[in-house]
Amino acid sequence: MSWSTLPPRGRSAAAILDELDALRARDVDWKSGRAFSLAYHAGPDVLALATEANARLLSANALNVAAFPSLRRMQSDVVGAIAGLLNGGPEAAGFMTSGGTESILLAVKAARKRGRERGITEPEMVLPTSAHAAFEKAAEYFGVRSVRVPVRDDWRADPAAMAKAIEPRTVLLVASAPQYPQGVIDPVAEIAALAAERDLCCHVDACMGGITLPMLERLGYPIPPFDFRVPGVTSISVDLHKYGYTAKGASVLVYRNRELRKHQTFFTDNWLGGLYGSSGVLGTKSGGPIAAAWAVLAYLGEEGYLRLTREAREATERLVAGLRATPAIRILAEPEATLVAFTVEDADTFAVGNALAARGWVVDQQKPPPSLHCTVNAVHGPVIDEFLSALRDALAEVRARGATGEQRAYGVTE
Ligand SMILES: *Cc1c(COP(=O)(O)O)cnc(C)c1O
Repeated sequence: MSWSTLPPRGRSAAAILDELDALRARDVDWKSGRAFSLAYHAGPDVLALATEANARLLSANALNVAAFPSLRRMQSDVVGAIAGLLNGGPEAAGFMTSGGTESILLAVKAARKRGRERGITEPEMVLPTSAHAAFEKAAEYFGVRSVRVPVRDDWRADPAAMAKAIEPRTVLLVASAPQYPQGVIDPVAEIAALAAERDLCCHVDACMGGITLPMLERLGYPIPPFDFRVPGVTSISVDLHKYGYTAKGASVLVYRNRELRKHQTFFTDNWLGGLYGSSGVLGTKSGGPIAAAWAVLAYLGEEGYLRLTREAREATERLVAGLRATPAIRILAEPEATLVAFTVEDADTFAVGNALAARGWVVDQQKPPPSLHCTVNAVHGPVIDEFLSALRDALAEVRARGATGEQRAYGVTE
């Protein structure tokens, strides 16, 4: 039974932690690679370091980095490291945020503010249908109309169609590297060129790819340019709590320069409490995720991320080969990074997803079109064969029962 009021008396820490462990016993077993979504794992050493660094700064408050200069330094190191990976150069500037959603919210808010300075009062943004749901959240929160443009047959954004959707009140164009649903990289250079010609903001959502793609490039994979080397790109988001393998609550939003970044920050003295400034959506902000990110980046270094990226990519390739060898499974797009989407041609795709869930495997269920989605990370190397065999079992069961399934959502509220 859930609580309906405060427990009248406290209990021992040991008893509480026992109950906490009992509660989490039914959570998806992500450390064993059962989650092809939501959680990432680079091994017990990385997790232990992230946990310890997180604990040491958990109650420190990044709202005021003058009081916590440790957090100022660590944030600056982390932003510098990511800006460097993105070829940002000495002008690049950014902040850490609590996650991809906050990074995207702030990129949209900054574009809106820049547009307002140019007299645009009813702003719009032009983005492909594949861009993340967080842009719709930003549209609703900030009153920026979302103008969605259908992707091409290859699931990539269609720059020509986006160009036609641009209006005088457009403030922002969006590209993703890679986009979440089918795992392909949008033609960033063409979209950024449209933005540059019209002096618009161009945000590249590299929440998934911001670490993986630079590492794949170093490993010799052909990666189309998506970062600040592309003229016209004004900001890029990179989630550390995904392929940075750090603790939850960490993303980076980098701008090409400070002039662009200034539209993100907020200052007021219009209350009785004096001057108040903050970089992001949050006020009080735990130092834990900042410290964990700093520690994990320091621990892994480029060498570590190269290894983890190679492991994740090889697992992705083995998954794709196994799916290709499975009758009636169709992969939607050749994955350019580590995300794989596939559909089932002779049975209900979501029912297959539910049958996998009943076997302890979490994959995303998405539409349109109905498909299953795997975010493959370094933890999955040893379990790809097991997953493929669970998938074959799930397929057989759904075909035998003629089952149909309700879609399970990737984000849920209760
Ligand atoms: C995960 C993700 C987001 C949202 O990030 P959260 O950390 O879940 O808030 C946005 N865009 C892409 C491409 C993502 O993969």
